[in-house]
Amino acid sequence: MLRSVILAAARSHRVERIVETAPVSRSIVRRFIAGEHAEDALQRTRELVADGLAVTIDHLGEDTTNPQQAEATRDEYLHLLDALHAAELTPAAEVSLKLSALGQVFDEKLAYEHARAICAKASESGTTVTLDAEDHTTTDSTLEVLGRLRADFPTTGAVLQSYLRRTEADCRELAVSGSRVRLCKGAYKEPESVAYQSRLDVDKSYVRCLNVLMAGTGYPMLATHDPRLVAIGEDRAKWFDRNPDEFEFQMLYGVRPDEQLRLARLGYTVRVYLPYGTQWYAYMMRRLAERPANLGFLARAVTSRG
Ligand SMILES: Cc1cc2nc3c(=O)[nH]c(=O)nc-3n(C[C@H](O)[C@H](O)[C@H](O)COP(=O)(O)OP(=O)(O)OC[C@H]3O[C@@H](n4cnc5c(N)ncnc54)[C@H](O)[C@@H]3O)c2cc1C
Repeated sequence: MLRSVILAAARSHRVERIVETAPVSRSIVRRFIAGEHAEDALQRTRELVADGLAVTIDHLGEDTTNPQQAEATRDEYLHLLDALHAAELTPAAEVSLKLSALGQVFDEKLAYEHARAICAKASESGTTVTLDAEDHTTTDSTLEVLGRLRADFPTTGAVLQSYLRRTEADCRELAVSGSRVRLCKGAYKEPESVAYQSRLDVDKSYVRCLNVLMAGTGYPMLATHDPRLVAIGEDRAKWFDRNPDEFEFQMLYGVRPDEQLRLARLGYTVRVYLPYGTQWYAYMMRRLAERPANLGFLARAVTSRG
């Protein structure tokens, strides 16, 4: 219930204005976000890599509504990839991309072309791109674009969400040689017709999907902070005889940092999802929906404005 309210607020421009301008927002934002500029992301990446972690960097922004904004997003990624390469942070750092930030909503072809330019630059820079998963109305389009990108850039990563009823079947399709697949629970508000609603059903689906990916010949990327699912991931890796370099764990910047280091010290690849940029509102609201304990910040932000 609370999760639904927060996710509805994530789409409200009125709440966005209130939260973005509240002074208390800054401190919580700093915990989850590298900073506003590519240089901030570079600095945090250096620190994470020095700690033995891998990174995937996300330039914040989604649901772009005009071609100029889509082009600016593409150019930001090209700049970021040049900077990562120059700083010798590839291949430890790759990038994560939302097709909606590249214009998917109004022009899928344009989004594909921008994503293609970013994949080409990533390939030149010795690293990879992963296409984030957004709400279920975009899943078919995103997987279709992924297929086209993979024809030229086979290492392009997919993201599948275990809350969607379709995902086990998508895992079967994508658990093939060379296929990088991030498995997460899913962060959007979705209707019962397409998504499991209870935590238990989402978790059970996660385990079924994890089994399919681990049994296949692709490269599973287990994106979760859930201690039980991390333990099941470790167990299945042993069961399916996967070496630590044949799959990875992924977690969000600022969430369970001690666990990230613990797993890395055990010899696993742990990739931290590191967002940066000024458009942090929707991202932050999804993090709050996952952990309503952090909600006090929002209440203070709103009430301090009277
Ligand atoms: C690397 C990465 C990439 C992702 N990419 C996508 C994507 O492309 N599309 C998409 O829809 N979703 C994405 N997600 C989000 C994901 O779908 C979940 O919403 C999110 O990871 C929370 O689910 P969980 O598996 O961590 O389990 P949960 O059941 O939410 O959490 C398990 C435990 O983890 C800890 N925890 C979880 N979240 C927080 C938090 N915000 N603050 C503090 N502690 C917390 C708590 O201890 C909690 O008990 C991504 C997540 C990760 C880690």
